[in-house]
Amino acid sequence: MERNASDEVCGSSLPPWVVMHIPHDSTSIPPEVRPQFLLTDAALVAELNRMTDHLTHAMFATRNGDAVVVRAPVSRLVVDVERFANDEDEPMASRGMGAIYSVTSSLAPLRRPLSDDERVSLMNAWYHPHHERLELAVAAAVEQHGQCLVLDCHSFPSRALPYEQDEASLHRPDICIGTDAFHTTDALVDAFTHAFSEAGWTVGINQPFSGALVPASRHLRDHRVRAVMVEVNRRLYMHEEDATPKPDFDDIAARIRACCGKAITDAFS
Ligand SMILES: [Zn+2]
Repeated sequence: MERNASDEVCGSSLPPWVVMHIPHDSTSIPPEVRPQFLLTDAALVAELNRMTDHLTHAMFATRNGDAVVVRAPVSRLVVDVERFANDEDEPMASRGMGAIYSVTSSLAPLRRPLSDDERVSLMNAWYHPHHERLELAVAAAVEQHGQCLVLDCHSFPSRALPYEQDEASLHRPDICIGTDAFHTTDALVDAFTHAFSEAGWTVGINQPFSGALVPASRHLRDHRVRAVMVEVNRRLYMHEEDATPKPDFDDIAARIRACCGKAITDAFS
């Protein structure tokens, strides 16, 4: 296993019972899915720029110790693995943004109406296999180490998109920590808040986004499975107009990893 010496010193080498969940960093749209979308190529690229958590795999997961990474292989516009599978359980479904989006971030039509068979086939191709990988990774951590932390890794635009129920003019924090009432301990909230604050960033708790993903089989059942979400404001590390990294991306990414490492060490010590 390749390790980075400076990361070790900064405490960002994560233990093997951490499962990093990276649901939103892919921009991949499979060719067989592309015809479902009502957008021109240019409009689709612009929508991917707005909705993708760009570079979150490179930022959180690169050289990050023994943590296991579960990363969605397709864009959230294909299926959003962070949403509940059933629209009845998913609050965003009423806005056309359940696991299969029907609208864009501007609440304009995104894709043509799908048949039930088409929806099932999207979920079978991309949603369920992703959650099976997550379930297996969490089960392996619990079996081998007696515990697991799901670190749910995201980023968010500096100004709210129209689909969000958030004031676009509101000043958004640098870092958002998302929590789950059952699976996120106070020690985790305190440790993550402290680590990022100490690094000089402003931190919001469940603001502008809330929650932390836990595999369905453990949700509200298994205290050995802890979860916390970290969302990084994209203004810190990328040019939002064209989704390219800022020149100091590597430095910011190393600091983000160091904060996560320190927080986990502190929360579990
Ligand atoms: Zn996200």
